[in-house]
Amino acid sequence: MPTGRFAPSPTGDLHIGNLRTALAAWLFARSDGSRFLLRFEDLDLSTSSRDYEHRQARDLSLIGLDWDDPPVRQSERSDLYEDAITDLSNAGLTYRCWCSRREVREAAVAPHKPPGTYPGTCRDLPAKKVAENEESGRPAALRLRCFSTATDVVDLLHGSVSASVDDFVLRRNDGTPAYNLAVVVDDADQGVGEVVRADDLLDSTPRHIHLQSVLKLSVPSYAHVPLVLADDGKRLAKRHGSVTLHDRSVLGDGPERVVSVLAASLGIDVPEQLVRPSDLITRFDPAELSLDPWVLSAEAIDTTW
Ligand code: GLU
Repeated sequence: MPTGRFAPSPTGDLHIGNLRTALAAWLFARSDGSRFLLRFEDLDLSTSSRDYEHRQARDLSLIGLDWDDPPVRQSERSDLYEDAITDLSNAGLTYRCWCSRREVREAAVAPHKPPGTYPGTCRDLPAKKVAENEESGRPAALRLRCFSTATDVVDLLHGSVSASVDDFVLRRNDGTPAYNLAVVVDDADQGVGEVVRADDLLDSTPRHIHLQSVLKLSVPSYAHVPLVLADDGKRLAKRHGSVTLHDRSVLGDGPERVVSVLAASLGIDVPEQLVRPSDLITRFDPAELSLDPWVLSAEAIDTTW
């Protein structure tokens, strides 16, 4: 019974797409009696994100989701990330990188590599160049030395995906631990065995699996749930209209109506107008999840459901 989790960034109120991913993650966990955790990914955020944490937790509770331990906050777990960095550095697997984002973007990479792949500029700099960079006072990021390892991901929804992993950032040049490190350390530390999240993160997963392997951590199962799109083809966002729980309630859709619409979008047979997630546990079947994004029309966004 693998522990599941939902790990939002507290940058604003959750919208229908976020709530749908949370519901899916909760159903994956609860339908086989597993624990479920809430983690706030606030590493690069200011203290004003605390207000959003409360609002996000409130909305998750309002739709009927629960979690087993008090939520954790990544900004309070830096020691864990630094311990992992120390292990990787002691194994000779890290190096400092002085490249700017622009330099990485503009550097030529092999044609078969995805755009943004790190070209390895700082991987083996001569000592003289390192000294020059140090003297320049320009802060350095820390990267993982990956040797372009090809990594396979077996996703419960997308099947087998293979990708080569570049030398990704572990600690940014402002000293903040990078998401790709923190997520792996946290999932392992919290005993998460099942990661259900939006499929915009599918491309990052080979990096996570590679890091799990070098840190000798167990690999959770992964299910990347398709995003919710607006009918302009863009990822659903606040600017699309009435997309938060509060917006829906102003239109007349209470939390139970929202859950019933989200459940139907996840392929769950919901004859009732109003349901609670706990009513769905025995009806949820991951095999019914569609791989296509759920497209919410402008009309559906602006009218009651
Ligand atoms: N914090 C990420 C987000 O809000 C999710 C990360 C994850 O689930 O691994 O998109």
